[in-house]
Amino acid sequence: MATPDTAAPFTFAHQPHPSPMAADVRAEILANPGFGTAFSDHMVSVSYDEGKGWHSAEVVPYGPIPLDPAAAVLHYAQEIFEGLKAYRLADGGIALFRPEANAARFNASAERLAMPVLPEGLFVQAVEELVKADKDWFPTVEGGSLYLRPFMFASEAFLGVRPSKKYKFLVIASPAGNYFKSGAPAVSLWVSDYSRAAPGGTGAAKCGGNYAASLVPTAEAFSRGHDQVLFLDAVERKWIEELGGMNLFFVMADGSLVTPPLGGTILPGITRESLIKLAREEGLAVREERYSLAQWQADATSGALIETFACGTAAVVTPVGKVTSASDSFVIGSGGPGQITQKLRSRLVAIQRGEAADTHGWVHRIG
Ligand SMILES: *Cc1c(COP(=O)(O)O)cnc(C)c1O
Repeated sequence: MATPDTAAPFTFAHQPHPSPMAADVRAEILANPGFGTAFSDHMVSVSYDEGKGWHSAEVVPYGPIPLDPAAAVLHYAQEIFEGLKAYRLADGGIALFRPEANAARFNASAERLAMPVLPEGLFVQAVEELVKADKDWFPTVEGGSLYLRPFMFASEAFLGVRPSKKYKFLVIASPAGNYFKSGAPAVSLWVSDYSRAAPGGTGAAKCGGNYAASLVPTAEAFSRGHDQVLFLDAVERKWIEELGGMNLFFVMADGSLVTPPLGGTILPGITRESLIKLAREEGLAVREERYSLAQWQADATSGALIETFACGTAAVVTPVGKVTSASDSFVIGSGGPGQITQKLRSRLVAIQRGEAADTHGWVHRIG
């Protein structure tokens, strides 16, 4: 793997969109953005060539990218991505939440997929450049944000199983609504018989291939009337791992929390890590330890467990109300959002939006 040969500060060429979206059309989108369907006027593109390193950083009009039919990503799925949000703060400024953590995780994913690492400063600057270029793309709805999707893929044209020698790093932006407002109904989970990740596999990497493999189990959950799929460990098929794209926390009646430990098969969520810190600051004990489906059911039934929630950047914190497997079904607490779940969610959102003191240096202002 070639080491990156670029150094901060990075120079980005800017090619403004010749015909950005009309203001009235954009306003309509921003009043009701949904999630992941509308995209801002620009995108960032940076190229990598073996021997040359990262080069040609630019902010260009959002649009289709030329791709050779033999591009390695289309055949061997050498692709990784990230997801983070830019928020409009209470004082009118703009901030990212822990973008350095996304940059570090991106490089961990890159190493697992035999891809070149990207200087963390280049990752963060690329996101900043796009947010600044498209600062008029923040949703006007309460709780809205600008969702950023950095990703890297193998672009070399060849058929053969080896790491590509060429890559593209892109960042696109999509206005996002607040699809899980506080008081949102709790979700219903389907415990899948499929595995998401095995020891030694790519479970800890944020790669598109993991998601491709989760589509059938997710479709199965939907067709049975559930909202999300829950994966158990691939070895013993008893330990709870995570959802298709969110980590899980269990809240006990004594106020302590349990979350499955990172061990290579779980995606190390930045929301997860942030909530562990916040919960401990609230005086709640948090244990990163294995928790079985059977124990979960027993604890929910006995009342030893009172709440469960899922967490991730997109939905922040989502209460879990019901769990169903091929053989069984049980309800968590009252089946609705619990108090500790709502309190932790409010704490995190207040920090992200600049409404509460940022004592951890998590809020990365860019204007
Ligand atoms: C991205 C992701 C998460 C959540 O990570 P955050 O950094 O909190 O957004 C959890 N699980 C999977 C599989 C993911 O891809």
